[in-house]
Amino acid sequence: MARTVSLPMMPGGAAGGSGVGAGGRQLHEKLFPFRGPWHLPWIIERYFRAARSGFTFPKVLNASLALTEMQMGKVRLRSRPFLLRIEPTNVCNLQCPLCLCGTGEDPRKKGMMSIDDYTHIFEQTKRWAMITRLDGLGEPTIHPKIFELIRIAKSYRTSVVMHTNFNTPNCEHP
Ligand code: SF4
Repeated sequence: MARTVSLPMMPGGAAGGSGVGAGGRQLHEKLFPFRGPWHLPWIIERYFRAARSGFTFPKVLNASLALTEMQMGKVRLRSRPFLLRIEPTNVCNLQCPLCLCGTGEDPRKKGMMSIDDYTHIFEQTKRWAMITRLDGLGEPTIHPKIFELIRIAKSYRTSVVMHTNFNTPNCEHP
């Protein structure tokens, strides 16, 4: 079972998709069952609490726009990603029966995110990114450079959140 680790943050913000596509609509309505402008402050507080030390005016402005567009159910967005969800690897050391990765049903080729590709994402989004989520279908601590990935995310002034199974005994801080 995966656990969430919130890593202490350097001044900065983070990442992610702000749009609500057709597939994401159902999930959005489950997460935010109460629609309307009165609900917006609660959503903003929830997102911004995690990234408060990374605030810059353009980031806050963009994230506010993104959350407003999400709340309105917009599919054509003027906002940019303020939350980055990056999968460091799609390899895992466990075989959980309800997970595509654990059962081997994930059809993608196994791999590790390169530092160059990773940094490129931050270069493209550094004006808006406030939060970085380092997880996906694989186990992030298996990535041999996971601590460098975290350092890079923080150097771009984003807070970092990571889900892990805490079952990688060889993962040690250098
Ligand atoms: S990624 Fe690994 S630990 Fe997480 S649910 Fe899948 S198999 Fe289990």
